[in-house]
Amino acid sequence: MRANYDVVVVGLGPAGASLVYMLRNSGLRVAGIDMGDESKIWGKPCGDAIGSGNFDKNGLPHPSGEALKQIVRGALIYSPSEQGVLRLTGGHGYMIDRNKYGLSLLREASGKVDIYLETKVSNPILESGKLAGVMARGEKGEMELRAKVVVDASGSVGSVRRKLPAEWPVAVEAPETDFSVAYRKIVELDYDIEEPDFIRIYFSTKIAPGGYWWFFPKGKNVANIGLGVQLGRGYEHPAKTYREVLMKRPDIGREVRVLSEAGARLPTRRPIATMVWHNFIAIGDSAFTVDPVHGGGMGYAMTAARAAANAIVAAAETGDFSAKGLWGANLEYMRALGAKQAALDVLRMFLQTLSDEEIEWAISKGLVGKEEVIAVFEAGEFSLTRHFLDTLDMVVRLMGKPTLFGKILKVNDYMKKIKGLYMDYPESPEGLLRWNAEVEELVAEYKRVMNIPF
Ligand SMILES: Cc1cc2nc3c(=O)[nH]c(=O)nc-3n(C[C@H](O)[C@H](O)[C@H](O)COP(=O)(O)OP(=O)(O)OC[C@H]3O[C@@H](n4cnc5c(N)ncnc54)[C@H](O)[C@@H]3O)c2cc1C
Repeated sequence: MRANYDVVVVGLGPAGASLVYMLRNSGLRVAGIDMGDESKIWGKPCGDAIGSGNFDKNGLPHPSGEALKQIVRGALIYSPSEQGVLRLTGGHGYMIDRNKYGLSLLREASGKVDIYLETKVSNPILESGKLAGVMARGEKGEMELRAKVVVDASGSVGSVRRKLPAEWPVAVEAPETDFSVAYRKIVELDYDIEEPDFIRIYFSTKIAPGGYWWFFPKGKNVANIGLGVQLGRGYEHPAKTYREVLMKRPDIGREVRVLSEAGARLPTRRPIATMVWHNFIAIGDSAFTVDPVHGGGMGYAMTAARAAANAIVAAAETGDFSAKGLWGANLEYMRALGAKQAALDVLRMFLQTLSDEEIEWAISKGLVGKEEVIAVFEAGEFSLTRHFLDTLDMVVRLMGKPTLFGKILKVNDYMKKIKGLYMDYPESPEGLLRWNAEVEELVAEYKRVMNIPF
């Protein structure tokens, strides 16, 4: 079978399903493809937590009915000893049933967009050095799907992106240590969870080195429990740690039923230098659009989808689907989230060098308070509030941690620098090479100055 489209979207997870939903009334001929069947839509293992702000901001419906499992009103952040607890309130988020929510987007789009499920994309079609579509195999047999623009929303595998010519700047690979592997179980427990509207995050380099472990209630006796660790450092696989360490805890071991269990790899780094090239856009995990510190990727994927949708509509008006014609996706994403994401990547690398003792100290001594955490996650800045500086000063005097104090100020400095570079993202593809060299140089300098060993 052969078909012609304006847009072919590969992968219908949070990135791809959001994009086909956003393009459903654009008048463009759009195809969305996923290798999974209906039961696998948005089926990648996830913590299932998402901030409510992501929906209005990106023009997506809020989860409701069966797709909404729990409203989240706050978070509890635990120090390694679990003696120090930071209680964050005032936020608003959801624990969702990903499959139900994803399907609701696809149902709205179907009829206006061609959806091919159980269809696996094998290769990009390249003609005279140009991307012309993709080859796929599904119930209709071999399919040749031609398009003016192909969107890779296939997750961290990057099914199309990684098969593009190596000299295309979108075809880059990233170091293994810029990824994490996370594993989670959704379980029914034999007790009622206290405060089910609070998600819990636990820092412990013994359990989750380079990451954290979590307990996210999905109702009064169901929880999504998991852990993520940095890749490339020889750490224990999180599934093993779950079995051997977490299951021994009285709050976790008391399972009545396991509803789902799986693990996956995810990028936890700055975004790809360019999401677009000629006739091509990458969004979601394929373009590394994930929060590097907490690993939340659904909201980032939605923002990347919105940037792609706007760029595609603009390109369709001019008929220019080249890198230049699609460049608006980069500009919109980098300013909306990419700059913050790059700053958080700088923070992520620093956090991954801290010992349990240092994390304990920061949480238990009240060094990190609500304002600091909110500033970091909202603006990508380690806001040096009066409270922060006063507490730091006091702790340095009482406990003697001057080196850490200096390090935090340096991290803050580099966070600002990289954020500035991303806010000054080049206006057109001609500036990419130089800009990217500056970013790489800054990151290399940061690693040198901070003695980051990966
Ligand atoms: C254990 C874990 C916990 C997490 N917790 C959270 C959390 O609490 N909150 C949060 O926001 N994020 C969380 N994340 C991150 C989040 O899950 C991802 O960032 C998000 O799913 C990325 O969406 P995506 O659409 O880019 O990719 P995916 O969700 O991976 O979707 C990609 C889709 O592409 C399809 N596909 C792949 N290859 C092909 C092909 N060749 N042909 C056809 N189809 C193909 C797949 O079937 C899949 O449906 C977590 C991740 C993990 C691993």
